[in-house]
Amino acid sequence: MTETYHDCKHCSGTGTCENGIDDSSCAICARRNFILKHSPAHGLVCSVCKGHCKIEPMSSRLKNRTGPLLAIYIMATAIMMVTTGSSEHFSEVLAFIGTLTGAITGFYFSGKNKT
Ligand SMILES: [Zn+2]
Ligand SMILES: [Zn+2]
Repeated sequence: MTETYHDCKHCSGTGTCENGIDDSSCAICARRNFILKHSPAHGLVCSVCKGHCKIEPMSSRLKNRTGPLLAIYIMATAIMMVTTGSSEHFSEVLAFIGTLTGAITGFYFSGKNKT
């Protein structure tokens, strides 16, 4: 699985915003760095990429969040099923939860282990 990261367009990969007048930082970055009065401010951290210079693509951001959320949702649903009376299927539901959470957490952590 390969993750593609975009260079930050705002700071052109430097991590420092130089979009204002005379290479100063732009108004948006100044505001996001809580500098309102002392403008122009120089060398502020780019507020778009927060100095990382790389933007994580939306799809992988979404995927990293959906994994644990899905696991929680499924577990909650399964627990609901168990507690609301379908106790004759208890062992089947339990096996189902075990397999599913194992698969999801495996998927989630394998996705996170790339450096
Ligand atoms: Zn940036
Ligand atoms: Zn800026």
